[in-house]
Amino acid sequence: MQIEKCKRPTKCDFIGCNNLADYSFSTKGLIKRELSFCNDCLKGMYEEIGKLQVPKGTTSPFKLKQRLKKEKV
Ligand SMILES: [Zn+2]
Repeated sequence: MQIEKCKRPTKCDFIGCNNLADYSFSTKGLIKRELSFCNDCLKGMYEEIGKLQVPKGTTSPFKLKQRLKKEKV
């Protein structure tokens, strides 16, 4: 799976969005056709994905703080 810059002007696939797509999501045939989306929709998707998949970098400092607290007590 790959996210590529759109080579030719395509409309964003998201319903209600009238922007031109900046990126296309290529799955090499895993979905019926490539999904094209603009920068705004990419941001929206990223935020939604972030709710499900929290990057490890953001959780570890919190865990470390908790561990330090525990060690003090
Ligand atoms: Zn869009």
